[in-house]
Formats: sequence, structure tokens, C-alpha cells
Amino acid sequence: MFSVQNAKQADMCRFCWMCRHICPVAGATGSEGWGPRARGLMVSMIERGTEYDAEIADSIYHCTLCDACANDCVTGWKPADFIREARTLAVVNDIAPQSIMTQIENLSYYGNVYGLPLCEKLGEKIDALPKKADLLLYLGQSGRTVGSSVALNLMEILDKAGIVYTVLKDELPSGTFLNDLMGTTGDVQAAAAAVVSQIVNSGAKEIVALSPSDTVMFREYYGGWGLLENIKVSSATSFVAGLLAEKKLKVLPVELTASLQEPVKLTRGLEEENPLLEIVAALGINYIPLFLHGKFSRCVGNPIMECYDSSVAKRMVAVRCDDARRINSNVIITASPDDYYIMNKYADKDIRIVDIYDLINTNS
Ligand code: SF4
Ligand code: SF4
Repeated sequence: MFSVQNAKQADMCRFCWMCRHICPVAGATGSEGWGPRARGLMVSMIERGTEYDAEIADSIYHCTLCDACANDCVTGWKPADFIREARTLAVVNDIAPQSIMTQIENLSYYGNVYGLPLCEKLGEKIDALPKKADLLLYLGQSGRTVGSSVALNLMEILDKAGIVYTVLKDELPSGTFLNDLMGTTGDVQAAAAAVVSQIVNSGAKEIVALSPSDTVMFREYYGGWGLLENIKVSSATSFVAGLLAEKKLKVLPVELTASLQEPVKLTRGLEEENPLLEIVAALGINYIPLFLHGKFSRCVGNPIMECYDSSVAKRMVAVRCDDARRINSNVIITASPDDYYIMNKYADKDIRIVDIYDLINTNS
């Protein structure tokens, strides 16, 4: 049922239990059935004849594909690979949860899992930009909707630095969320081809992606498919860190003691920890690292989990707030529209959630 490679991966688990402590979903909920070890066991059991039913599919979707387990597992496995394949099988066999199917439909109709239109203020700002430019700012699903304030802050930063750029008003989804919802199918590659066509038509020679998930998609998946070969892809944080280093953007020191919620796709997916720290240093912030930071950063949920089971996303944020309290930190800086939206929505009142682009914009 599963590919030989993924079935083999699932069988590699040695039941050492180490990932039980590292999985942010299992840790936040206390559910043994929602950890990587359990999902691996489920895949092994399906391979040996257990029926793949809706209950197993529910566990398969209680994963944010954050790769913390892959980072830590002694066997060197990558659960995200067989989890994605399990999701393809769930959709094909009609046992995927209804909320997941709704998110897939929302992607087709609205271009985002939330089922929301482009933020009006953002639309007006995009209308005032050139239609073609060497640099394309790719805002992504949260940046265009629930995290539009983050996108607007970044655009103002680029304006202040004198950068000429364009944004696609009808920007199509990169396929990163479709890839997480239903695995790496032909539909994801078709979505990628449509986005590449938009990008080429924009005349861009470089893409700056606001969401780390999109940056990973462009670099790893599009790169693997031979797409975007002559177009440079940068994360927004590394691009802004470069502007600061080159003194194209100047910031005033901020009197702030704060911790960072490093986006897991940035530190683990792209291994880009330093640009974020460079920005924090440029702002003169008294930085207190959270427990599990850098490439071990703890995931606080993602848009799919937020739409599928918001109680889990809420619990994951509560765990991160506890991490901050333990080190007497009451400010957490986020660096992606996904994290800002989810943390700002669920963090307790004693913990202030601050968007890094807001800090830069306000102090430049
Ligand atoms: S850390 Fe790896 S080997 Fe250990 S229980 Fe988790 S998945 Fe299995
Ligand atoms: S990818 Fe993240 S959420 Fe999923 S099983 Fe691994 S640690 Fe848990």
C-alpha cells in the first residue's frame, strides 16, 4: 500500500521513546496516538493488514510536519515522508477528515486554506506597485489574509529601503499547503507549474518569500523539479538582514527584552538561523533564547492544524508561552505571518506577541 521506501522508514522505529518528548503535538496534548512513534506504528500495521480507517487518518493529520522528530530520531528517519504518503492515501480512499477536504476546496476557490479573500488594504497597496519588476515579493496565504499586517509591514520596510518590487495581486498558492494536506501528488506539481508561469510573466529575477514554508517549497520542491532554475529565492528574513548589513535600511535601537519564536521551516527547513539573530542584534534587543530554539525550535501549530483542530494549536501556543515564563520573558517575537497569527490569537495576556517586521518598520 505504501511505497517500499516509506514502509521501510516506518519500520525503522526502535521505540526508544525519545521523540515522545520532542513532538510538539504529542507534548502539548499528552496524546500517545498523536506522536511520530505512534504514526510510524500505524503505517507498519497498515502494511501488515490493519484497515486504514478514519481514526488512523485523524492521527495522521494531527501532525504539523515540523520535522522535529526527524531532527532528533536516532534512526535518521523522516516521518514527514510517510505521513505525506498516508495523507495521499487518506484523500484517495475518502477517509480524510471533512475539515481537510474543506481546506483543499478552499485552496482551489480562494487560494488559501482559510477560505478568505485578499485583505482589502493589501489589495490597494498592491495596485500601487509596478506590475513587473526584477524582484517579486511572494506573500503567501497567511500574508494575504490572516497575517496581512505582517505583509504590510514588510512592504513598508522595502519602500523605506528604496527597493523596487512587485506583488502578484492574483498570486496563486505555491503548493506548500496542498503538499501538506494531500502529499506530493501531480496536483502539487500542477500548482507549482501555474505559479512558475505567473512568476516568469512578472519578469522577476529574484523572489523574496514572506512565509518560510513557501521558501522551502520554492527551493526544495521547485528546485527538485527543475523549476525556477534561473531565479534566486530568498527568505524575507535573510533579505531584510541583508538590507541592514548593507546599510540600505537603518534601524534605531529598541529598548526591549524579548525571546524569539523561530519559524521551524526557517531554522530546520532552510537552516537559516543567523539572519533572524542578525536582525535582533541590529535592533539592539536584549535577547533571551527560549528552551528549544534554533534548529530545535518548538512548533506552535500551523494554518492547517489551526483550521483542522484549533484546540491543539491553542495548546501548542500555551506550551510556548510556558517556555517564555520559565525564563522570565514576557515578549515573544515572531518572524512569519503564520506564527504571528496563531500566537497572537492564542497567547495569554501576560505574554506579548510582536511581529519582527512591525518592530523593524516602527524603528526605521
Ligand atoms: S526517536 Fe525514532 S526510534 Fe525513537 S521512538 Fe521516536 S521514531 Fe522511534
Ligand atoms: S513532524 Fe512534528 S508534529 Fe509531526 S510527528 Fe514529527 S515532531 Fe510531531
